[in-house]
Order: sequence, then structure tokens, then C-alpha cells
Amino acid sequence: MSKETKAGSIHAMLGSKLSGIRSKRVVIGNSISAADIIINDGKITNILPWGKLQSSGSQLLDVGELVVMAGIIDPHVHVNEPGRTAWEGFRTATLSAAAGGITTIVDMPLNSLPPTTTVSNFHSKLQAARGQCYVDVAFWGGVIPDNQVRVIFCCKQRDSLLLPQRYL
Ligand SMILES: [Zn+2]
Repeated sequence: MSKETKAGSIHAMLGSKLSGIRSKRVVIGNSISAADIIINDGKITNILPWGKLQSSGSQLLDVGELVVMAGIIDPHVHVNEPGRTAWEGFRTATLSAAAGGITTIVDMPLNSLPPTTTVSNFHSKLQAARGQCYVDVAFWGGVIPDNQVRVIFCCKQRDSLLLPQRYL
């Protein structure tokens, strides 16, 4: 599946096979410089001075002056789906995050319906999120009196997206 994204006048197809990204403003460590980012099999394998990549057409995405940087993780997001989707749902939360350069959000356990303080509520949120997320999503599990064993058990299950957070 591929989706078209827009950033200014730049259009790219997600899932397309890029061999490089070129920008006048690439954030590398604590500095910003013009560079060509080399990509092989979906992974960055090298960063060259601007203009050194010998590629063209659809395999090179030249974003001009747009900033290219590592994705940001926002560990404190209140997505209120399914209980208060009109406030914020997974689709709008993750689209907004992506527009701001955030590639991972972590949903807070409280101040939402349902609160993520039980395994059942966690599964309700997980089900609500399915098919609507444009960035990676994880969930804080609210640890409150009498639910520690169940939440921690869920966290130990393989591939769990639930992270424990204490509210005692
Ligand atoms: Zn908060």
C-alpha cells in the first residue's frame, strides 16, 4: 500500500523505492548542512556532501531547503479515542504529529475514555487505533492500586505496545 504525502511542493509516494534524499538543510548531530542521504533497502547507509549522489528521477527526492532530520518521539499525547473521539482521534493525532516531524507518539493512560488502566481498556484503544495511524503509536499503561499485576503481565507479553506508568 502506498500513500501520497505533500510537503510544500514536494511529493513522494510512501513505499516508493528511494536511493537518496537531497537537502540544503540536513540536521546531523548538532549542525545543519547541505547533504545527500544515501538509502539502501530502506536504511540510511551514508551521508555525502550535497550533490555527490549520482542518482536522478524518482529515486532521488530533492527537497531543496526543507529540513531533513531524525523523527521526534512525543511521549505525552492524549488521544481520546474511542471515548471522546471528537476531542482527538488516532487519525487526527497521528496526521498532526507527522506534519510536525514526530514519527512516534505515546498515548497517555488517563484523562481519556477508557483510561488505559486495564488490559481490556488497552485492547479497546488498540482496536480503535487500527488502520488509522500515520506514525508509530505506543501506549502508557496507568499503574494504579490493585492493577499492578495485570498491567505488568501485559507489558511482559511479546510485542506489547503497553508501557507501565505509575499513578499511586
Ligand atoms: Zn497530559
